Amino acid sequence: MTVALYTHPACLAHDTGPGHPESAERLRAVLEALAPADFPDLIRREAPEATRAEIGLVHSSAYIDRVLAACPTEGRGQLDAETPLSPGSRVAALRAAGAVVAAVQAVLAGEVRRAFCAIRPPGHHAEPKRREATSGFCLFNNIAIGAAVALQDKNCRRVAIVDFDVHHGNGTQDFAWESPNVFYASTHQASLYPFTGFPDESGGCRNILNVQLKVKTGSVDFRRAYDDQIIPALTAFAPDLILISAGFDAHADDPLGDLRLTVEDFAYVTRCLCRVGTGRVVSALEGGYDPDSLAACVAAHVDALENAP
Ligand SMILES: [Zn+2]
Repeated sequence: MTVALYTHPACLAHDTGPGHPESAERLRAVLEALAPADFPDLIRREAPEATRAEIGLVHSSAYIDRVLAACPTEGRGQLDAETPLSPGSRVAALRAAGAVVAAVQAVLAGEVRRAFCAIRPPGHHAEPKRREATSGFCLFNNIAIGAAVALQDKNCRRVAIVDFDVHHGNGTQDFAWESPNVFYASTHQASLYPFTGFPDESGGCRNILNVQLKVKTGSVDFRRAYDDQIIPALTAFAPDLILISAGFDAHADDPLGDLRLTVEDFAYVTRCLCRVGTGRVVSALEGGYDPDSLAACVAAHVDALENAP
């Protein structure tokens, strides 16, 4: 199965400073795990910069200006308390969003069946036009921008976003809230940042499905959430394209989460998602803060994208 890898060295130049968990070291570990020797069939593509019009499908002009203005030309900047910025942050954010846009376009055009975007900064906490509070290491909501671009294609009427990051994707949920052709499903740890993602918080919004997982949840209950709830809901929604907010911080070794997932759990859920609907999948890196387990999880995830029917 043809799978493309979208990335760019500019994503390494977003410097969050010493000791910050969302570091360039994470992406270096991911790229090393996906080296050509181990993944000879991956089609390697350079992530372009997203255009202002593409980002503007999700974020307001004022927000885009605010983010870009916060990126310093020298020295350090700060988008919010948790999100430090450096001179490389501007282009990193544009290429992170652009990777998902290009991957979506390539998959919808039939050039490749699936794609993985090895990018940072992550995006799922960045809120769309409705509220636009910034949060949690995120600048632009890469996956929501990809979904919005996908829906401009007349052959793509419904997009599902599945988010298995240990944190709830509050920004992506807000985007889905106002987009009836987007289905958002998330598994995440309960009582963890950003403290959203309750099963009933969508107020009857039928295209949002939140499954909270208790502290120390392991393989059995995680897989059951997909088998019993998320996969049946996705199958009923019948998406033309599935996007994955692929955070790997629910792994047992992650320092920011307190779940107990294994590398094989991420491969399992990836295979399940590839079986839904058309099998067209675009996945984008979100969290994952232990570089070693992150690298192993990404390798298993991409292997599943390549080998699932
Ligand atoms: Zn996370």
